[in-house]
Amino acid sequence: MNLSKDFTLEEFVRSDTAKRLGIDNTPTELAVAYLILLCHFLLQPVRNHIGKPVRVTSGYRCPKLNAAVSGVSTSQHTEGKAADITVPGMPACDLFDRIITMKEIEFDQIILYKTFVHISFNLGKNRKQILYSKEVSGK
Ligand SMILES: [Zn+2]
Repeated sequence: MNLSKDFTLEEFVRSDTAKRLGIDNTPTELAVAYLILLCHFLLQPVRNHIGKPVRVTSGYRCPKLNAAVSGVSTSQHTEGKAADITVPGMPACDLFDRIITMKEIEFDQIILYKTFVHISFNLGKNRKQILYSKEVSGK
């Protein structure tokens, strides 16, 4: 199922950890609706802006999977509102810089990690928080 031109539901749901632990990571209908918004308002515009494939390394996580990967329990990944992304061949800090200077998008939170960028979208109330993970800031 396509969520937008270049993103499919499968890439947001697949998880090696879920497979290994036998966790059913099927998203709720509400989570799928949020994933569509995330793609439509954020990820597809980012992909169009960068002009290169954007890879989703972690998308939706059911609460069980989120706990298995030690995600914070309030993680927006459990609601279908967040994705961890990379662009092959582009350092995460460059991807981060490209996204935060885009004027045409609104995000809730963007967090720079060493090897990927976490980005989230919330309907109606986006905080536009630009954050650096501990592994990057050293704090
Ligand atoms: Zn994340």
